[in-house]
Amino acid sequence: MNPVLDAFARPLRSLRISVTDRCNLRCEYCMPQEDYVWLERSELLRFEEIAELARIFAAIGVEKIRLTGGEPLLRRDLDRLVSMLAGISGIRDLALTTNGLRLGQSAALLRQAGLRRITVSLDTLHPERFTALTRRSGHDRVILGIRAARGAGYEAVKINAVIVRGFNDDELAPLIEFGRQHGAEVRFIEYMDVGGATRWSSRQVFSAAEMLQSLSLRYGAIESAGHHDPAAPAQEYRLPDGLRFGIISSTTQPFCGSCDRARVTADGMFFRCLYAHSGTDLKRMLRAGTATAEIAAVIRSLWTERRDRGAEQRLAIGTRAPLFRVEELRANPHREMHTRGG
Ligand code: SAM
Ligand code: SF4
Ligand code: SF4
Repeated sequence: MNPVLDAFARPLRSLRISVTDRCNLRCEYCMPQEDYVWLERSELLRFEEIAELARIFAAIGVEKIRLTGGEPLLRRDLDRLVSMLAGISGIRDLALTTNGLRLGQSAALLRQAGLRRITVSLDTLHPERFTALTRRSGHDRVILGIRAARGAGYEAVKINAVIVRGFNDDELAPLIEFGRQHGAEVRFIEYMDVGGATRWSSRQVFSAAEMLQSLSLRYGAIESAGHHDPAAPAQEYRLPDGLRFGIISSTTQPFCGSCDRARVTADGMFFRCLYAHSGTDLKRMLRAGTATAEIAAVIRSLWTERRDRGAEQRLAIGTRAPLFRVEELRANPHREMHTRGG
């Protein structure tokens, strides 16, 4: 199918669906505050509504869906949603990003329901660092979750690690070796100044260039291995022994030029960019009984007008402060990373 193209000829191919804004961790780089304004439960999309939107997106060219949050495994009976999405014609990839705490119980069930790939966020191998970063316990459960995912026969299990200078920049090689042992490719993510990261500072960004330098000191020459998919956020690399890993350099080398990703929040707001200032309420249309063809036309038209390249614009600012202040996030929780879906 010919996908709908935005103003810079970027297709709409991939959709991140946040299934909840709630989380059982409080990662410093995502949810550093004590209190949050949560979405009303009655406002959350029901599974049937999420599936309806997914069918509309698939009909206009979306091929890849990733479930996220908040912590998606907090959404009860998620396997039921997964099986609904797995059955949608045109969806060739169905993935999930999780903090892994509840993965031990649900990895096999979600796989049986049709989930194809899993990414687990694991920033450190030190339990005490995990507790300091996330302000919760459970490091051992995340490791168990990764093992359970490996045992459940997923097409791929990946590990995402946000690298923060002075916190875990000494764990690049240990995380790579952990990934090797567990059959999971590791992707290092630069610390981003997204909504929610109210304590972000450029000083804490450990850049892709620094990561490569540090890893080549340990392993020797590292080769670029291109991209699995030109629109995928991670740049792939190969160690001298052939092991692959990825770097998502959103902060210092953004990749907006090939970005094919849209987002829908747990309450049905459609965002064309992680950094977009406003979104469009698709739930209101669904609940008003708007015809699917009309909703599809609205999405098409919004995508056609899309000129977003948020991370590139942030980079161009030069000296930058966090994207939003706490009061701005409180005034509009849709600005939060845990609401928008990372
Ligand atoms: N709770 C799930 C998890 O942590 O995997 C899914 C949602 S979380 C918002 C998705 C991803 O965003 C995680 O891999 C997380 O590490 C990443 N993330 C959150 N805040 C970030 C930040 N300020 N910079 C870079 N990545 C961030
Ligand atoms: Fe951490 Fe993910 Fe929860 Fe954010 S949504 S606090 S990154 S576990
Ligand atoms: Fe895509 Fe926006 Fe992220 Fe750029 S900042 S890669 S346009 S979501």
